[in-house]
Amino acid sequence: RISIPPNHPRAKSLHTREALVDGYRRGLVVAEGLIAHGRGEAYDYLIGECTTKTAQRAIKAAAAMLLLSRHPVISVNGNAAALCPGAIVELAKATGAAIEINLFYRTEERERAIKAELETHGAENVLGVGSRASATIPELQSERRRVDPDGIYSADTVFVPLEDGDRTEALVKMGKKVITIDLNPLSRTAKAAHITIVDNIVRAMPALAEAAHQLNGSKSLKRIVDGFDNKKNLRESLKIIRGVI
Ligand code: ATP
Ligand code: MG
Repeated sequence: RISIPPNHPRAKSLHTREALVDGYRRGLVVAEGLIAHGRGEAYDYLIGECTTKTAQRAIKAAAAMLLLSRHPVISVNGNAAALCPGAIVELAKATGAAIEINLFYRTEERERAIKAELETHGAENVLGVGSRASATIPELQSERRRVDPDGIYSADTVFVPLEDGDRTEALVKMGKKVITIDLNPLSRTAKAAHITIVDNIVRAMPALAEAAHQLNGSKSLKRIVDGFDNKKNLRESLKIIRGVI
C-alpha cells in the first residue's frame, strides 16, 4: 500500500481509487467495476471534477422526487457500496427510501458482503439478498432482472446510481420513475432516466442526502420536479464538456 501525499494534485481521485480497490479486495466490487469506474473518471476530468450547477439542479430535483414518492427504492451495486455507503444510508433515512442490493455479476457471497457493509453504516432492512429477489423485471436477460417484490418490483421511484442502460430502460417501461447518477451524459442510462445527475457518485450522493434533509417538509417539491427538464440538463452537461459554457 502506498500512502497518498495530501498535497498531491490528484489526491481525491487517488483516494477514490483506493476505496474502490479496497472494496475489490473485500469482495464488494468485481474487476469489471474497476473498469466501469475508469470510464467515469474520464468524464469526471472533462466536467472539471466538481459538482456543476447543472448537476446541482438535478440533485435538487432528485431529492424532491424521492421525497414525493410513495415507495422509493435505492438500488445498490458493488461500486456504490464501496464508494459511499454512509451517504446511501443517510439518503435512505432522509427520504424513507428502502435499500435493495442488485448486482449485474450476482453471487450470494457478494450480496452478503455488501449487505454487511451497508449495515456497518447503519442500514436496517436491506432488500434483494438471496431468495428475497424472487420477482422478475420483464424483458431483461441479465441477473439484474431478479428483484425484491417488496423493493424495486413494487417501487414507484427507483434510484439507480451507476446503472446499466438495459435495466434503466426496462424500469422506465415498467412505469417507474427512474433517477440515476452517471458521469457519462451520453450513456443509455443517462438518456433513459427521468432525472440524471451527471456527477461523481462520491460527491453527488452526500449532496443528495443533504438536499433531502433541507427539502424535507417543503411545499415546493412538486414545483421543483415539474420544473426540471432532463434533456435540457443533459445538453448543458455536454456543453460543459465541450467547453462552451
Ligand atoms: P450504458 O449501459 O448506460 O449505455 P455503459 O455500458 O457505457 O453505459 P456501464 O458500465 O453499463 O456503462 O455503466 C456504468 C456507468 O457509470 C458509466 O456510464 C460510467 O460513466 C458511470 N460511472 C462509473 N463510475 C462512476 C462514478 N464514480 N460516478 C458516477 N458515474 C460513474
Ligand atoms: Mg452498459
